[in-house]
Amino acid sequence: MMNPSGRKYFLNPETLRFERVRLSRGQRARLVLGVAIGLVALAVVLRYGFERYYPTPRQVIYEHENARLRTDYMALNSRLQQVDRQLLELRDRDDRFYRAILNLDPVPSSMREAGTGGSEGYAHFAQIREPGLVKDVSEHIDKISSRVLIQSNSLETVYDEAVTNQRFLACKPSINPISPGDPHWLTSSYGYRNDPFTHRRCAHHGIDLAGPYGLDIHATGDGKVIAAHLNRHGYGKEILVDHGFGYVSRYAHLKEIRVKAGQEVKRGEVIGILGSTGRSTGPHLHYEVRKNGRTVNPLYFFYENLTPREYSLLAAKATRTAGPYRPNALTQK
Ligand SMILES: [Zn+2]
Repeated sequence: MMNPSGRKYFLNPETLRFERVRLSRGQRARLVLGVAIGLVALAVVLRYGFERYYPTPRQVIYEHENARLRTDYMALNSRLQQVDRQLLELRDRDDRFYRAILNLDPVPSSMREAGTGGSEGYAHFAQIREPGLVKDVSEHIDKISSRVLIQSNSLETVYDEAVTNQRFLACKPSINPISPGDPHWLTSSYGYRNDPFTHRRCAHHGIDLAGPYGLDIHATGDGKVIAAHLNRHGYGKEILVDHGFGYVSRYAHLKEIRVKAGQEVKRGEVIGILGSTGRSTGPHLHYEVRKNGRTVNPLYFFYENLTPREYSLLAAKATRTAGPYRPNALTQK
C-alpha cells in the first residue's frame, strides 16, 4: 500500500494497526541487486536491439566479409565440381581407352569409390552458421583427393603395362625372316603334309621358305640366341632365339650361322645365311615359332613387313593345324 509520502505501510494482524514497512539490510541488498540486474538486462536488450537496426562500422565490415566469403565458397564449390567432372572424364578414358588397349580390367567401381561418402567426418561443421556450404566443399575435396590417388595408381599400372607391352612388341617374333625384297616363296606351310622323304602324312611344325643360296636370314624379334649349332636330327645348321614372354623362334637348314649362343639380337638383324644343311631337298629356310613350348603358325606373326594381300595369300595356304610337336622327329624339316 502506498501513500503520497512514498512510505510503505502494512496491516499488522497482531496489533491490527498500520505499521511502517522497514526492510532488513539483506532485503535491501537483494532489492539493489535486482534493480542492477534489471538495468544491465535492459542495457543489453537496448544495445542489441539498436545494433540490429543500426549496425556498428565493424559489424558492417564483418557482414561484407561474410557475404564475400560465402560467394567465394560457392565459387570454390563449383570449381571443385568442375575438377570432379574432369576427373570422371579421365577415369572413363582410363577404363575405356588406356586399360582396354593394354587388356587391363577396368578398376572396379567399389575401389574407385573407396574412401568417399560418409558424413561423420563433417559433423563439426554443424556449428558453423552455414554448415552446408563448408561441408560441401570439404566433401568435394575429400572425394577428389581419393579419386586422384586411385587414378594415379591406375595410371602407374597403365604405364608399367605400356612399358612391358612395348618390350613385348619389340621381342615378339613378328616379321618375315627373309626380307620381302629378296626372292623367296612358301614351299611348305604349317600343319599336316606329305613328307617329301617318307611320303607319309605327318606334322610340319613351321613353314618352309625357299630361295636362292646366300639370302640373309633376319631375327624376327629382339631376343637372345640360345642355340647356334649343327642339329644332328635333321635341322642342319640352326639358330634358336629366345624372345622372352614364352616365345622361341627357330631358323634351320642354314648355310652359315652368323651369331653365337648367348648373344643378344635385335629384330631385323642378320643372323644367318640361307642354305640346305640337314634333311633338306633344296635351299630353303625352315622357320618355326614356339609359344610356351608349343609350335604356332608363324604366319600369324608376319604383319610388320607383309602387305595385307601378301598375308592373306600366305594365310590361305596355311590354315591347316600341326599335330603334336616332336622336336627331334626324323622327318624332313
Ligand atoms: Zn620345314
